[in-house]
Formats: sequence, structure tokens, C-alpha cells
Amino acid sequence: MGRKDRERFLRLKETNPEYQGFRGAATATPPPPPPPLVTESVTCSLCQRRRNVNVASLPPDRSAYVCLRCQEEQAT
Ligand SMILES: [Zn+2]
Repeated sequence: MGRKDRERFLRLKETNPEYQGFRGAATATPPPPPPPLVTESVTCSLCQRRRNVNVASLPPDRSAYVCLRCQEEQAT
């Protein structure tokens, strides 16, 4: 390690005691767990079938929901 690099390393270590160098990722805070899957029973506006759908993928207007099967049929 060059002198400049060492100075830089020490400065980083000073400002961040957790700093372990560039390969210190193992000590980094783990990402937060994914939110729990919430599903809602919605009626598809095209085929009128009821589907349990992940709320995150639902449109704000539930009556505009189109199930995956119908979306695929529209795409082809
Ligand atoms: Zn459908």
C-alpha cells in the first residue's frame, strides 16, 4: 500500500470506525427483510375470475385489474 493510500485509509477509518477497507462488505448492515406478501382477492375485469393477487402489483382502481392470463392473451 502506498503512503497516500495508507493516509487515505487511516482518514476513512477515523471518520468511520466500522471501515475495514474496500473488502469490508461483510461487516456492512444487512439489507432489511422484504415486506410480507399481502394478497387480495380481486375480480379480473376481462374474464371475471377471482384471483388472489399481490397487493403491490394491483392498480389503485381494483375494477381495472386484469389478471396475468388475460394480460398474456392481450400481448399475443
Ligand atoms: Zn382475466
